[in-house]
Amino acid sequence: MPNRLDRVRRQLAEHDANALLISNLPNIRWACGFTGSNGLLLVDPDEAIFVTDGRYTEQARQEVEGAEVLIAKEGLVSRLLDAGQLEGMDRVVFQADHVTVSRYQKLEEHCPEITWIPASGLLTRQVAVKEDREILQIRRAQAVTEAVFDHILDVLEPGKSEREIAAEIIYDHLRRGAEKMAFDPIVASGPNGARPHARPTDRTLQEGDLVVIDMGCILDGYASDMTRTVALGEPSAAAREGYDVVRRAQKQAIEHARAGLTGKELDALARDCIEEAGMKEFFSHGLGHGIGLEVHEWPRASYSVEDELPAGVCVTIEPGVYVPEEEYGVRIEDIVVLRSDGVDNLTSVSKELIIQ
Ligand code: ZN
Ligand code: ZN
Repeated sequence: MPNRLDRVRRQLAEHDANALLISNLPNIRWACGFTGSNGLLLVDPDEAIFVTDGRYTEQARQEVEGAEVLIAKEGLVSRLLDAGQLEGMDRVVFQADHVTVSRYQKLEEHCPEITWIPASGLLTRQVAVKEDREILQIRRAQAVTEAVFDHILDVLEPGKSEREIAAEIIYDHLRRGAEKMAFDPIVASGPNGARPHARPTDRTLQEGDLVVIDMGCILDGYASDMTRTVALGEPSAAAREGYDVVRRAQKQAIEHARAGLTGKELDALARDCIEEAGMKEFFSHGLGHGIGLEVHEWPRASYSVEDELPAGVCVTIEPGVYVPEEEYGVRIEDIVVLRSDGVDNLTSVSKELIIQ
Protein backbone atom coordinates (compact mmCIF):
# COMPACT_ATOMS: atom_id res chain seq x y z
CA MET A 1 0.00 0.00 0.00
CA PRO A 2 2.66 2.65 0.86
CA ASN A 3 4.21 2.28 -2.60
CA ARG A 4 0.81 3.13 -4.05
CA LEU A 5 0.98 6.46 -2.22
CA ASP A 6 4.30 7.06 -3.93
CA ARG A 7 2.57 6.47 -7.25
CA VAL A 8 -0.05 9.02 -6.20
CA ARG A 9 2.73 11.50 -5.34
CA ARG A 10 4.10 11.36 -8.88
CA GLN A 11 1.04 13.31 -9.91
CA LEU A 12 2.24 16.26 -7.83
CA ALA A 13 5.05 17.13 -10.22
CA GLU A 14 2.80 16.63 -13.21
CA HIS A 15 0.45 19.33 -11.92
CA ASP A 16 3.14 21.41 -10.23
CA ALA A 17 1.06 21.19 -7.05
CA ASN A 18 1.68 21.12 -3.28
CA ALA A 19 -0.90 18.44 -2.62
CA LEU A 20 -3.57 16.20 -4.10
CA LEU A 21 -7.00 15.88 -2.52
CA ILE A 22 -8.40 12.41 -3.28
CA SER A 23 -12.14 12.07 -2.78
CA ASN A 24 -13.15 9.09 -4.95
CA LEU A 25 -13.68 6.27 -2.43
CA PRO A 26 -12.40 3.41 -4.63
CA ASN A 27 -9.24 5.48 -5.24
CA ILE A 28 -8.90 6.09 -1.50
CA ARG A 29 -9.25 2.37 -0.88
CA TRP A 30 -6.62 1.67 -3.51
CA ALA A 31 -4.20 4.26 -2.13
CA CYS A 32 -4.46 3.68 1.64
CA GLY A 33 -6.76 0.70 2.28
CA PHE A 34 -9.81 2.41 3.81
CA THR A 35 -13.03 0.57 2.88
CA GLY A 36 -15.67 2.79 4.51
CA SER A 37 -18.13 5.13 2.81
CA ASN A 38 -16.85 8.57 3.83
CA GLY A 39 -13.36 9.99 3.64
CA LEU A 40 -10.85 12.35 2.07
CA LEU A 41 -7.17 11.73 1.49
CA LEU A 42 -4.73 14.62 1.27
CA VAL A 43 -1.33 13.68 -0.13
CA ASP A 44 1.66 16.01 -0.16
CA PRO A 45 5.33 15.23 -0.86
CA ASP A 46 6.11 14.25 2.73
CA GLU A 47 2.94 12.93 4.27
CA ALA A 48 -0.60 11.77 3.71
CA ILE A 49 -3.58 12.66 5.87
CA PHE A 50 -6.78 10.64 5.83
CA VAL A 51 -9.89 12.18 7.36
CA THR A 52 -13.19 10.41 8.04
CA ASP A 53 -16.07 10.74 10.49
CA GLY A 54 -16.63 9.25 13.96
CA ARG A 55 -18.42 6.15 12.68
CA TYR A 56 -15.14 4.92 11.25
CA THR A 57 -12.72 5.72 14.07
CA GLU A 58 -11.81 2.09 14.74
CA GLN A 59 -12.06 0.90 11.17
CA ALA A 60 -9.81 3.67 9.87
CA ARG A 61 -7.17 2.93 12.48
CA GLN A 62 -7.19 -0.73 11.52
CA GLU A 63 -7.28 -0.34 7.77
CA VAL A 64 -5.40 2.80 6.79
CA GLU A 65 -1.76 2.34 5.84
CA GLY A 66 0.73 5.07 5.07
CA ALA A 67 -1.48 7.98 6.15
CA GLU A 68 -2.22 9.72 9.43
CA VAL A 69 -5.88 9.39 10.45
CA LEU A 70 -7.98 12.37 11.52
CA ILE A 71 -11.57 12.05 12.76
CA ALA A 72 -14.00 14.84 11.87
CA LYS A 73 -16.83 15.99 14.13
CA GLU A 74 -18.23 18.42 11.57
CA GLY A 75 -17.27 18.28 7.90
CA LEU A 76 -14.21 16.50 6.53
CA VAL A 77 -12.88 19.68 4.91
CA SER A 78 -13.37 21.63 8.17
CA ARG A 79 -11.31 19.01 10.00
CA LEU A 80 -8.46 19.35 7.51
CA LEU A 81 -8.59 23.12 7.92
CA ASP A 82 -8.69 22.96 11.73
CA ALA A 83 -5.65 20.70 11.70
CA GLY A 84 -3.83 23.30 9.58
CA GLN A 85 -3.17 20.73 6.87
CA LEU A 86 -3.72 23.16 4.01
CA GLU A 87 -1.72 26.03 5.48
CA GLY A 88 1.04 27.47 3.33
CA MET A 89 -0.14 25.69 0.19
CA ASP A 90 -0.89 27.57 -2.98
CA ARG A 91 -1.75 24.85 -5.51
CA VAL A 92 -3.85 21.80 -4.68
CA VAL A 93 -5.25 19.33 -7.22
CA PHE A 94 -8.71 17.85 -6.68
CA GLN A 95 -10.65 15.16 -8.56
CA ALA A 96 -12.96 17.17 -10.81
CA ASP A 97 -15.17 14.17 -11.50
CA HIS A 98 -15.60 13.31 -7.80
CA VAL A 99 -16.18 16.62 -5.99
CA THR A 100 -19.61 18.16 -5.53
CA VAL A 101 -20.15 21.81 -6.34
CA SER A 102 -20.89 22.54 -2.69
CA ARG A 103 -17.63 20.97 -1.53
CA TYR A 104 -15.74 22.88 -4.19
CA GLN A 105 -17.36 26.14 -3.06
CA LYS A 106 -16.40 25.36 0.51
CA LEU A 107 -12.78 24.79 -0.46
CA GLU A 108 -12.71 28.06 -2.40
CA GLU A 109 -14.40 29.97 0.37
CA HIS A 110 -12.22 28.67 3.21
CA CYS A 111 -8.92 28.66 1.36
CA PRO A 112 -9.02 31.63 -1.00
CA GLU A 113 -5.22 31.73 -1.13
CA ILE A 114 -5.10 28.26 -2.71
CA THR A 115 -5.53 27.74 -6.43
CA TRP A 116 -7.75 24.65 -6.69
CA ILE A 117 -6.81 22.71 -9.79
CA PRO A 118 -9.48 20.42 -11.22
CA ALA A 119 -8.11 17.19 -12.69
CA SER A 120 -10.27 14.67 -14.51
CA GLY A 121 -9.20 11.06 -14.56
CA LEU A 122 -6.60 11.65 -11.84
CA LEU A 123 -5.19 8.20 -10.83
CA THR A 124 -7.23 6.30 -13.42
CA ARG A 125 -4.13 5.00 -15.17
CA GLN A 126 -2.37 4.07 -11.94
CA VAL A 127 -5.42 2.23 -10.67
CA ALA A 128 -6.03 0.49 -14.00
CA VAL A 129 -2.77 -1.46 -14.05
CA LYS A 130 -3.39 -4.33 -11.68
CA GLU A 131 -0.98 -6.03 -9.31
CA ASP A 132 -1.06 -9.84 -9.25
CA ARG A 133 -2.91 -9.88 -5.95
CA GLU A 134 -5.61 -7.62 -7.40
CA ILE A 135 -6.04 -9.96 -10.37
CA LEU A 136 -6.43 -12.78 -7.88
CA GLN A 137 -9.17 -10.83 -6.13
CA ILE A 138 -11.04 -10.28 -9.39
CA ARG A 139 -10.70 -14.01 -10.08
CA ARG A 140 -12.22 -14.75 -6.67
CA ALA A 141 -15.18 -12.43 -7.30
CA GLN A 142 -15.57 -14.00 -10.74
CA ALA A 143 -15.53 -17.49 -9.22
CA VAL A 144 -18.56 -16.56 -7.10
CA THR A 145 -20.39 -15.29 -10.18
CA GLU A 146 -19.56 -18.48 -12.07
CA ALA A 147 -20.90 -20.64 -9.26
CA VAL A 148 -24.07 -18.55 -9.30
CA PHE A 149 -24.34 -19.07 -13.06
CA ASP A 150 -24.24 -22.84 -12.58
CA HIS A 151 -27.01 -22.57 -10.03
CA ILE A 152 -29.08 -20.27 -12.27
CA LEU A 153 -28.95 -22.85 -15.06
CA ASP A 154 -30.72 -25.23 -12.67
CA VAL A 155 -33.59 -22.81 -12.07
CA LEU A 156 -33.89 -21.13 -15.48
CA GLU A 157 -37.03 -22.47 -17.13
CA PRO A 158 -40.12 -21.39 -19.04
CA GLY A 159 -42.79 -19.94 -16.78
CA LYS A 160 -40.41 -18.13 -14.42
CA SER A 161 -40.26 -14.35 -14.69
CA GLU A 162 -37.13 -12.33 -15.41
CA ARG A 163 -37.54 -10.69 -12.01
CA GLU A 164 -37.61 -14.06 -10.23
CA ILE A 165 -34.37 -15.06 -11.92
CA ALA A 166 -32.79 -11.69 -11.07
CA ALA A 167 -33.82 -12.13 -7.42
CA GLU A 168 -32.24 -15.59 -7.40
CA ILE A 169 -29.03 -14.15 -8.89
CA ILE A 170 -28.80 -11.57 -6.11
CA TYR A 171 -29.70 -14.01 -3.34
CA ASP A 172 -27.27 -16.67 -4.53
CA HIS A 173 -24.39 -14.18 -4.83
CA LEU A 174 -24.91 -12.99 -1.26
CA ARG A 175 -25.34 -16.56 -0.03
CA ARG A 176 -21.98 -17.44 -1.57
CA GLY A 177 -20.21 -14.59 0.22
CA ALA A 178 -20.41 -11.60 -2.13
CA GLU A 179 -20.47 -8.24 -0.30
CA LYS A 180 -23.03 -6.88 -2.72
CA MET A 181 -23.88 -6.82 -6.40
CA ALA A 182 -21.59 -4.79 -8.64
CA PHE A 183 -24.68 -3.62 -10.55
CA ASP A 184 -28.33 -4.64 -10.89
CA PRO A 185 -28.32 -7.95 -12.74
CA ILE A 186 -29.76 -8.03 -16.24
CA VAL A 187 -32.08 -10.87 -17.18
CA ALA A 188 -33.50 -10.06 -20.60
CA SER A 189 -35.54 -12.68 -22.41
CA GLY A 190 -36.82 -12.90 -25.99
CA PRO A 191 -37.71 -9.42 -27.30
CA ASN A 192 -36.44 -7.78 -24.10
CA GLY A 193 -32.99 -9.10 -24.97
CA ALA A 194 -32.95 -6.67 -27.89
CA ARG A 195 -32.39 -3.85 -25.39
CA PRO A 196 -28.72 -3.84 -24.33
CA HIS A 197 -29.44 -2.44 -20.87
CA ALA A 198 -32.82 -4.03 -20.20
CA ARG A 199 -34.11 -4.18 -16.63
CA PRO A 200 -35.68 -7.44 -15.45
CA THR A 201 -39.45 -7.33 -15.95
CA ASP A 202 -42.43 -9.51 -15.05
CA ARG A 203 -42.24 -11.16 -18.47
CA THR A 204 -42.29 -14.92 -18.08
CA LEU A 205 -39.64 -16.88 -19.94
CA GLN A 206 -40.93 -18.69 -23.02
CA GLU A 207 -39.82 -21.79 -24.85
CA GLY A 208 -37.54 -20.68 -27.71
CA ASP A 209 -36.29 -17.50 -25.95
CA LEU A 210 -32.70 -16.44 -25.82
CA VAL A 211 -32.06 -15.09 -22.32
CA VAL A 212 -29.26 -12.56 -21.79
CA ILE A 213 -27.91 -12.80 -18.25
CA ASP A 214 -25.39 -10.13 -17.22
CA MET A 215 -24.25 -10.14 -13.61
CA GLY A 216 -21.39 -9.32 -11.30
CA CYS A 217 -20.65 -8.89 -7.64
CA ILE A 218 -18.21 -7.19 -5.31
CA LEU A 219 -16.01 -9.45 -3.20
CA ASP A 220 -13.34 -7.87 -0.96
CA GLY A 221 -13.85 -4.66 -2.90
CA TYR A 222 -13.20 -6.11 -6.36
CA ALA A 223 -15.81 -6.56 -9.08
CA SER A 224 -16.78 -9.45 -11.31
CA ASP A 225 -18.81 -9.05 -14.50
CA MET A 226 -19.98 -11.77 -16.88
CA THR A 227 -22.65 -12.14 -19.54
CA ARG A 228 -23.92 -15.38 -21.00
CA THR A 229 -26.86 -15.87 -23.34
CA VAL A 230 -28.79 -19.09 -22.84
CA ALA A 231 -31.48 -20.64 -25.08
CA LEU A 232 -34.65 -22.11 -23.63
CA GLY A 233 -35.32 -24.86 -26.11
CA GLU A 234 -34.37 -24.54 -29.76
CA PRO A 235 -34.00 -20.85 -30.72
CA SER A 236 -35.10 -19.43 -34.10
CA ALA A 237 -32.63 -19.77 -36.97
CA ALA A 238 -32.05 -15.99 -36.88
CA ALA A 239 -31.29 -16.03 -33.15
CA ARG A 240 -28.91 -18.94 -33.52
CA GLU A 241 -27.10 -17.18 -36.33
CA GLY A 242 -26.87 -14.03 -34.18
CA TYR A 243 -25.39 -16.13 -31.38
CA ASP A 244 -22.77 -17.64 -33.67
CA VAL A 245 -21.75 -14.20 -34.97
CA VAL A 246 -21.27 -12.82 -31.46
CA ARG A 247 -19.42 -15.95 -30.39
CA ARG A 248 -17.03 -15.64 -33.35
CA ALA A 249 -16.54 -11.90 -32.73
CA GLN A 250 -15.76 -12.46 -29.07
CA LYS A 251 -13.34 -15.27 -29.89
CA GLN A 252 -11.60 -13.15 -32.50
CA ALA A 253 -11.22 -10.25 -30.04
CA ILE A 254 -9.85 -12.48 -27.27
CA GLU A 255 -7.42 -14.25 -29.60
CA HIS A 256 -5.94 -11.01 -30.93
CA ALA A 257 -6.24 -8.70 -27.91
CA ARG A 258 -3.00 -7.53 -26.32
CA ALA A 259 -1.54 -4.55 -24.52
CA GLY A 260 -0.45 -1.74 -26.80
CA LEU A 261 -3.60 -1.70 -28.92
CA THR A 262 -5.79 1.38 -28.66
CA GLY A 263 -9.32 1.05 -27.33
CA LYS A 264 -10.52 1.56 -30.88
CA GLU A 265 -8.28 -1.19 -32.28
CA LEU A 266 -9.42 -3.66 -29.63
CA ASP A 267 -13.05 -2.82 -30.34
CA ALA A 268 -12.49 -3.28 -34.08
CA LEU A 269 -11.34 -6.89 -33.58
CA ALA A 270 -14.91 -7.82 -32.72
CA ARG A 271 -16.73 -5.09 -34.64
CA ASP A 272 -15.13 -6.08 -37.98
CA CYS A 273 -16.32 -9.63 -37.49
CA ILE A 274 -19.89 -8.50 -36.80
CA GLU A 275 -19.73 -6.14 -39.77
CA GLU A 276 -18.59 -8.97 -42.07
CA ALA A 277 -21.70 -10.89 -41.02
CA GLY A 278 -23.82 -7.91 -42.09
CA MET A 279 -24.93 -7.16 -38.52
CA LYS A 280 -22.98 -3.97 -37.85
CA GLU A 281 -26.02 -1.84 -36.97
CA PHE A 282 -27.05 -4.29 -34.25
CA PHE A 283 -23.82 -3.91 -32.22
CA SER A 284 -24.77 -0.65 -30.56
CA HIS A 285 -22.22 -0.26 -27.76
CA GLY A 286 -18.48 -0.39 -27.18
CA LEU A 287 -16.64 -3.70 -26.82
CA GLY A 288 -15.72 -3.40 -23.17
CA HIS A 289 -14.51 -1.50 -20.13
CA GLY A 290 -11.83 -1.63 -17.49
CA ILE A 291 -12.77 -3.35 -14.23
CA GLY A 292 -11.30 -3.55 -10.74
CA LEU A 293 -12.38 -1.77 -7.57
CA GLU A 294 -15.09 -0.26 -9.76
CA VAL A 295 -17.10 -2.25 -12.27
CA HIS A 296 -16.56 0.43 -14.91
CA GLU A 297 -13.05 1.86 -14.92
CA TRP A 298 -10.70 3.40 -17.42
CA PRO A 299 -9.89 2.22 -20.11
CA ARG A 300 -12.88 1.80 -22.36
CA ALA A 301 -12.43 -0.43 -25.39
CA SER A 302 -14.60 1.46 -27.82
CA TYR A 303 -14.66 2.78 -31.37
CA SER A 304 -14.03 6.37 -30.20
CA VAL A 305 -11.14 5.67 -27.80
CA GLU A 306 -7.61 6.45 -28.98
CA ASP A 307 -5.97 5.66 -25.60
CA GLU A 308 -3.37 2.93 -25.78
CA LEU A 309 -4.13 0.08 -23.41
CA PRO A 310 -1.25 -0.75 -21.05
CA ALA A 311 -0.16 -4.22 -19.95
CA GLY A 312 -1.80 -5.37 -16.74
CA VAL A 313 -5.20 -3.77 -17.20
CA CYS A 314 -8.31 -5.90 -16.79
CA VAL A 315 -10.95 -5.24 -19.43
CA THR A 316 -14.18 -6.90 -20.41
CA ILE A 317 -14.70 -8.25 -23.92
CA GLU A 318 -18.45 -8.09 -24.46
CA PRO A 319 -19.71 -7.87 -28.02
CA GLY A 320 -23.45 -8.17 -28.59
CA VAL A 321 -26.17 -7.89 -31.20
CA TYR A 322 -29.65 -6.59 -30.43
CA VAL A 323 -32.25 -7.35 -33.08
CA PRO A 324 -35.76 -6.09 -32.21
CA GLU A 325 -37.38 -7.28 -35.46
CA GLU A 326 -36.26 -10.86 -34.74
CA GLU A 327 -37.07 -10.50 -31.03
CA TYR A 328 -33.73 -11.47 -29.60
CA GLY A 329 -30.47 -10.17 -28.26
CA VAL A 330 -27.13 -11.84 -27.62
CA ARG A 331 -24.16 -10.71 -25.55
CA ILE A 332 -21.17 -12.71 -24.36
CA GLU A 333 -18.79 -11.16 -21.84
CA ASP A 334 -15.51 -12.28 -20.29
CA ILE A 335 -12.88 -10.40 -18.30
CA VAL A 336 -9.31 -10.57 -19.60
CA VAL A 337 -5.96 -9.19 -18.41
CA LEU A 338 -4.02 -7.59 -21.25
CA ARG A 339 -0.42 -8.77 -21.60
CA SER A 340 2.21 -7.72 -24.12
CA ASP A 341 1.70 -10.95 -26.08
CA GLY A 342 -2.00 -11.68 -25.55
CA VAL A 343 -4.41 -12.04 -22.66
CA ASP A 344 -5.15 -14.09 -19.57
CA ASN A 345 -8.86 -14.86 -19.52
CA LEU A 346 -10.29 -14.65 -16.00
CA THR A 347 -13.61 -16.19 -17.06
CA SER A 348 -13.92 -19.93 -17.41
CA VAL A 349 -17.60 -20.57 -18.23
CA SER A 350 -18.09 -22.14 -21.66
CA LYS A 351 -19.36 -20.01 -24.51
CA GLU A 352 -20.95 -22.81 -26.53
CA LEU A 353 -24.66 -22.05 -26.81
CA ILE A 354 -26.38 -23.70 -23.89
CA ILE A 355 -29.82 -25.00 -24.85
CA GLN A 356 -31.89 -25.72 -21.78
ZN1 ZN B 1 -21.68 -7.18 -17.74
ZN1 ZN C 1 -19.38 -5.28 -18.51
